Amino acid sequence: MTEPLIPPLNIPFSSVGLSDTILRAVAEKGYTTMSPIQAAAIPHVLAGRDVMGAAQTGTGKTAAFVLPLLQRMLKHETPSPSPARHPVRALVLTPTRELADQIHQNVTAYAKYTQLRSAVVFGGIDIKPQMAELRKGVEILTATPGRLLDHIEAKTAVLNQVEYVVLDEADRMLDIGFLPDLQRILNYLPKQRITLLFSATFSPEIKRLSASYLQNPILVEVARPNETAANVEQLFFSVHEDDKRRVLRQLVRERGITQAFVFCNSKLGCARLARSLERDGLRTTALHGDKSQDERLKALEAFKKGEVDLLVATDVAARGLDIKDVPAVFNYDIPYNAEDYVHRIGRTGRAGASGLAMSFVDGDDKRLISDIEKLIKKKVEFAEFQFENEQPPRGSHFNSGRRAWGDDDGGPRREERRDERPSERRSSYASRPAPKPVDPFFDRPYEPSTPEPAAPTNTADMGTSRVSANIKTKKKVAALFKSGE
Ligand code: AMP
Repeated sequence: MTEPLIPPLNIPFSSVGLSDTILRAVAEKGYTTMSPIQAAAIPHVLAGRDVMGAAQTGTGKTAAFVLPLLQRMLKHETPSPSPARHPVRALVLTPTRELADQIHQNVTAYAKYTQLRSAVVFGGIDIKPQMAELRKGVEILTATPGRLLDHIEAKTAVLNQVEYVVLDEADRMLDIGFLPDLQRILNYLPKQRITLLFSATFSPEIKRLSASYLQNPILVEVARPNETAANVEQLFFSVHEDDKRRVLRQLVRERGITQAFVFCNSKLGCARLARSLERDGLRTTALHGDKSQDERLKALEAFKKGEVDLLVATDVAARGLDIKDVPAVFNYDIPYNAEDYVHRIGRTGRAGASGLAMSFVDGDDKRLISDIEKLIKKKVEFAEFQFENEQPPRGSHFNSGRRAWGDDDGGPRREERRDERPSERRSSYASRPAPKPVDPFFDRPYEPSTPEPAAPTNTADMGTSRVSANIKTKKKVAALFKSGE
């Protein structure tokens, strides 16, 4: 593998040898100059090289692979209506339904003035219309792995003429557990092909995948992975689990936040929080794997249009979504994987805008915060927080002035949690290293979720919510870690 390229900036699209039909579509999108990943990757893809791209969503990586692939496929353009003349030539594999849909929309826009056909297939919706579309013949197929395998088995996706494969968000596909599916799919493809792999991070597993399926790839890298943007203000609040919702509402109000992502670690936690915030009068929607595809697309649309203010999401559901300019991100739960912290806060402060990332740290999150500190190479400091209309704590363990990290007492706070937390989260806390937030719903047919129990707290509870002794003034985490403090 060659060294990462440092791409020059301000290069116009017209300088790289794309056809007029493609340039016209690009111009209609309003783009004139290439983003760094585009400047770095497009010439290599045009030259027929395998490429490993280190880039996250938001960098323009979709156009970085779609435009040169379209260019290379122009020689296959045909007005023939015969399906046989439109075999699948480019396959884009991506982990989530939303990303698949987003990529497909990009492909459709960029291929607008060509005669190349495209389609998207993902789970969670009726397979029959997808089968009908595939039978008509498409050159560019975007798919999630599970649903693609269904089509391969049904023989509606025939992949023996594939010339180009893109593994998009490869790290996330492995996180979700798609490796066996990916291996099966890749084994169906002709050996002679161009393979492009995009990943936000290059773990040893990703490197192994690349070594197995890419040939002498060029590495293009635009931002060092695991680097947090300098224009994102990162605030950490030491907050007891029970106070998180109250703190969230107050911060939204105090800081005049118009829109924000709120990240939770579990689907159940996400659904519950969204419902309770809605009951609190905040315009909120949830995005997680238990929602039907239709519900998820509607939630996204509503957020994009500004009809809702808070989008409560799990990592997998939110990963890669092209929603720009979110003024703030809340880590309602600290993510189990430090890398997800970087991905989450990367949702704000894009394109030079300043962003705000606020993380709620509970006593059990010590290890997770320490992982984040190692990754971002910065010590976390806690911001001050003062409850509005502060009332003294009411006769509970909070009176004891517990430290931010607690002393792992197993006392009343633990008991209280046992009543209120979703079971999957409790067990994850008990046994680190925690499981990655796997979301198997993404690639299997949607089944309506069973009715969930009511949210743990109600509005009446909120009125009497206690002031947590864990709300601390500015204090170094390192100091808090010291035993015997
Ligand atoms: P992506 O990382 O592919 O999801 O792209 C992130 C966003 O940047 C999308 O809204 C793209 O439409 C947009 N975009 C892609 N390329 C460019 C470009 N050269 N100039 C401006 N915006 C772009």
